[in-house]
Amino acid sequence: MNLVIESVGQGEAIAKAAIGRKLQRMFPNGCKRVLLVNPMGVPEEDYDINVAVQNRYPIYPPYGLGVLSECLQRRGYEANIMDLNFEQQAALKSFPQNFKYNIWRKWLRKKIDDLNPDFVGLTCMFSVTHRAMKQVAGYVKELYAQLPVFAGGVHTSGVPELVLKDCAGIDFAGLYEGNTSLPDMLDFINGKQPESSLTQLCTIENEQYIAITERAPVESNDLNAAADYRDLKIEEYSSLGRIGTYYWLFDDATRASTVLSNRGCRAKCTFCSVRHFNGKGVNDRDVNAVVDELENLRDRYGITHIMWLDDDLFYKEKRTVQLFNEITKRNLGITWDASNGIIASALTNEIVHSASESGCIGLSLGVESGSDKILRAVYKPSTVKHYIQAGEILRNYPSIFTRGLFMCGFPGETISQLTDTINLGREMQFD
Ligand code: SF4
Repeated sequence: MNLVIESVGQGEAIAKAAIGRKLQRMFPNGCKRVLLVNPMGVPEEDYDINVAVQNRYPIYPPYGLGVLSECLQRRGYEANIMDLNFEQQAALKSFPQNFKYNIWRKWLRKKIDDLNPDFVGLTCMFSVTHRAMKQVAGYVKELYAQLPVFAGGVHTSGVPELVLKDCAGIDFAGLYEGNTSLPDMLDFINGKQPESSLTQLCTIENEQYIAITERAPVESNDLNAAADYRDLKIEEYSSLGRIGTYYWLFDDATRASTVLSNRGCRAKCTFCSVRHFNGKGVNDRDVNAVVDELENLRDRYGITHIMWLDDDLFYKEKRTVQLFNEITKRNLGITWDASNGIIASALTNEIVHSASESGCIGLSLGVESGSDKILRAVYKPSTVKHYIQAGEILRNYPSIFTRGLFMCGFPGETISQLTDTINLGREMQFD
């Protein structure tokens, strides 16, 4: 059976009632304590120990889980985080002779036994992690059949029905950013909010896929929440793996981490999942909240390099300049990079000047194609003219390493258009 009840009109109320009943059934004693888990980045069958030994797998602090943990705690819930991706890499580097991929099972079991959480929340950002998430969810259910398991993250939000059907260990899939919707759900479970407050949540009940696709309104407090990583060793992450694509520009002793300044992107490129996950437009965080977060990372963990997680870092010129000037004014002594692509049409002299002053050492531009026809067809927010102008501006800042992100093989793309792309890359003179 493959019926879908989505949050449109009457269907919304039906979906909320059905999911509400399941939540009440699965949490008869309410919900106070949460364990958020970042699964291994690569499933066992794809894991290459030689790659791991060379620190070539990405090891990112789980920023989304950190923000969720902060938002949950602000509502009075206990949130703990376990990063199996990090733990596994740390174990490999410490005890290479005795390393076994499935060591995570022992750690997870101990963590659950020690904490006794009311539910386990798994994140899955990229499709490559799907099978690892499935393994973790299955293991949790194997040990603790009654313990509810949730999944979230970009991959889960993109294909929630597939995730729920393929991963029998997952009871609920949270959609999109969960910073407000997850605490709302806990409030509902604990009788503090009505069923109508449930948003962004899916499940399978009686073989029927049920989805509430309504988004929770963006709450300013949640938007400005800084990641609280609990007891994760954020200071060790960049010594065990890759953060961003400019890691080779700083020395091994430099500690790097990530921060998000804006959520979402102004554009709606046809091949990109950002708009689906973050919704329409951009929600920009308060500049001081962002710089406070940078300062805290430096003071608490010794972080001196930041990779922005933003998909539209240069959204709003005035605010962007203000952000970089505030970093300079506070003399944070950090460097930063924008490994995710910058929108070329947003790049101005003023922004790049303030970026350079505030410690920018690497910028990537999402170019994709040198053909305006292709750029229009995929709704790219920049034109060839913008790219050429951006290249000219960036050449005035030799201390910033520049990189272009290109795509080839668009539907209907001709050899001539591909040649235009190569020529544009040359003309922009990326490093
Ligand atoms: S500009 Fe980049 S982040 Fe924004 S929609 Fe396009 S590809 Fe996605």
